[in-house]
Amino acid sequence: MSSADTPTAPPSDPTASAEAAAPGGLKRAEAVARAALLDVESYDLRLDLASDTETFGSVTTVRFTSRGGTTFVDLKPASLRSVHLDGHPVDVDLLRRGRLPLETTEGPHELVVDAVMAFRNDGEGLHRSVDPADGRHYVYGMSFMDAAPSVFACFDQPDLKAPYTLHVTAPEDWVVIGNAPATNPEPGVWELEASQPLSTYFVTLVAGPYHLVRDQHDGIPLGLSARASLAADLDADAEELLTMTKQCFDEFHRLFGIRYPFGDYHQAFVPEFNAGAMENPGCVTFRDQLVFSSKVTRGQRIQRATTVAHEMAHQWFGNITTPLWWDDLWLNESFAEYMGNRVTADVTEYTDAWVYNSFSRRQWGLLADQRPSTHPVAGNGEEDATAALQNFDGISYAKGSSILKQLNATMGDEVFLAGAVDHFRSHFFGNATMHDLFASWERAGAGDLSDFTRGWLVTAGPDRIVLDRAAGALVRTPPPGSPADRSHTFR
Ligand SMILES: [Zn+2]
Repeated sequence: MSSADTPTAPPSDPTASAEAAAPGGLKRAEAVARAALLDVESYDLRLDLASDTETFGSVTTVRFTSRGGTTFVDLKPASLRSVHLDGHPVDVDLLRRGRLPLETTEGPHELVVDAVMAFRNDGEGLHRSVDPADGRHYVYGMSFMDAAPSVFACFDQPDLKAPYTLHVTAPEDWVVIGNAPATNPEPGVWELEASQPLSTYFVTLVAGPYHLVRDQHDGIPLGLSARASLAADLDADAEELLTMTKQCFDEFHRLFGIRYPFGDYHQAFVPEFNAGAMENPGCVTFRDQLVFSSKVTRGQRIQRATTVAHEMAHQWFGNITTPLWWDDLWLNESFAEYMGNRVTADVTEYTDAWVYNSFSRRQWGLLADQRPSTHPVAGNGEEDATAALQNFDGISYAKGSSILKQLNATMGDEVFLAGAVDHFRSHFFGNATMHDLFASWERAGAGDLSDFTRGWLVTAGPDRIVLDRAAGALVRTPPPGSPADRSHTFR
């Protein structure tokens, strides 16, 4: 995800939901227990977006294998029509706080949940809005971090990945785009191919009378979309956006040696979006203020370019290999931020991206790090999604990415990239932790990184570096109140 100029709003409950979510959402211990019990094979979703403007039909068929025991499925419906486990009805009145308990025997199971969900208007779940310019309706999906259960029934945690197949009914003048390529066999009917294995928080759908621009590069179908009322502005920006997308794909392929695996790459500029962008595999969503409708500064163009590259970096770091739990969200963002700046500076027209970063974006982290509320980059021990978001700030993005840049300078670029590639290959379409990544770097030849971790990642506050010209030396002052022992690599 990319932050907007203002911090991301914390997740909120669907207003139309009959049941409030559990406070703080899923706890880490609950996720560990459920992952130990279940393997999820596939999701099949039938969404009816055509029948009503307030709600939509959502029929989920999830196939999974259990080791036998009690668990629960997450869902936050407006109303729940029926639930069947292996063909047997489950009492829908057992739904409490967004959870329906399930008794499972050892072996394979099929759960079918027929629900009516509410369209939302807070930028989460399936967000539906009306364009004031022409009265047209637009929908997009935002499942991050824990909004997926207001779209479909699911085991909502990042480490229970599965492929998704979507069947969507929509008004006949709409286009429907999702995480996998779609066909439109008859007006108003959209069939999406089975996706690659995805975490629940990546599942999205962009649907409405969107204006589309299509292209392709190196075998990857590319798309851009925005509201019809922004068509002329999107067309004016399309060449710049598509050119940088192609340049970044070439560079990520060169650096990682792993092909982008999610099929099409669609970049959807959507209305009323809380964050800057969200890296949904195959269908990245951006706030549509990034389709410029007036003259903007070079800084704003650089910020947009690095956001495009940041979301592309996530296709590898985050989407192929996903954090096991929310406490490593900072690393997901730091890595994408670092690679986004680097690739933008190296291969796009914005060769000054690092300069912009140093006086603009980096200050965001530096300021946050000097406040009484500062916290270490890593190891804040988030037990649930809400707690993780509370520590999700300029330190997660800007300080974290500066530390990865420092780490790259310390271990050298070859080792840095070899470790990252080892991380992707070792956990392909899977999940991993910060410790897994550091183990990959150590295997790649970085040596023992425990001093680096102690100095940079688990202690808060910035060092002050002063050049003592008379002595011909750099003098480092650790942050007050924090005995951080850090070595710096300078060029
Ligand atoms: Zn991100």
